Amino acid sequence: LKDQWEIDPEELNLGQEIGSGQFGLVLEGKWKDRKVAVKMVREECMSDEDFKEEATVMMRLSHCKLVQLYGVCTQRSPMCLVFEYMESGCLSDYLREKKGNLSLDLMLGMCLDVSEGMAYLESSNFIHRDLAARNCLVSKNNEVKVSDFGMTRFVLDDQYTSSQGSKFPVKWSAPEVIKYSKFSSKSDVWSFGVLMWEIYNEGRLPYENRTNTEVVESLNAGLRLLKPRLAPDSVYLLMEWCWKEKPEDRPSFALLLHELAAFSDL
Ligand code: ADP
Repeated sequence: LKDQWEIDPEELNLGQEIGSGQFGLVLEGKWKDRKVAVKMVREECMSDEDFKEEATVMMRLSHCKLVQLYGVCTQRSPMCLVFEYMESGCLSDYLREKKGNLSLDLMLGMCLDVSEGMAYLESSNFIHRDLAARNCLVSKNNEVKVSDFGMTRFVLDDQYTSSQGSKFPVKWSAPEVIKYSKFSSKSDVWSFGVLMWEIYNEGRLPYENRTNTEVVESLNAGLRLLKPRLAPDSVYLLMEWCWKEKPEDRPSFALLLHELAAFSDL
């Protein structure tokens, strides 16, 4: 790892537990007077060496709508990843808590925030691979940022990484990902359509009562998620565009951002 990204364990103070995820515990902490979120990576959960190779690429990605990775503390065991702290936690929980009190402006603003972050990733030729409301975080002023980009590549659990696995996010995945593991910015766009659906359904899970197999069958039959009650027709049209069978028929994030920005001016 390049020295500039190595975090000195002396400068990192660890606090309370704030959550747990795919790689292990997440703690709040302090680093150089900054409040941070620290992911303690359990060795058996992550391919460490692959991650260290890629970490410099991920740390160079920097945008106000992405949760910033500040650095990595490899000298400590377990290895720690140090991120920008997001006061209001993950977007899916936030939506469920605020259910009934979310204005249309706020929901459109959330879609815009995510599309900005994703347009930046797209222009950096970086594929997220697991875009969903659970992988976005909310700041103290209700701003939404994209998190966990590219991280599924380092997960060691087959149940999560194989499209046949029980933990694979089939309900957010484009058909070509389910069939051939063909990830691209256009497969991220498909997931973004599902994320917009989650926002306008105030945090409901997509295809709630259906198994992954049933979801795949209905997608193959050309069926799609229904229009959320709160979504304007114009927004649902964008969702449907994201869910075109062929990747090349879907919009880019640059175009989605442009379209969503035009709605917010109305
Ligand atoms: P993993 O990527 O390892 O699966 P998550 O990113 O889902 O872990 O993190 C688990 C939980 O920890 C989240 O739901 C959230 O509540 C909390 N968390 C993660 N990152 C941050 C952060 N940067 N700021 C604040 N809370 C966070």
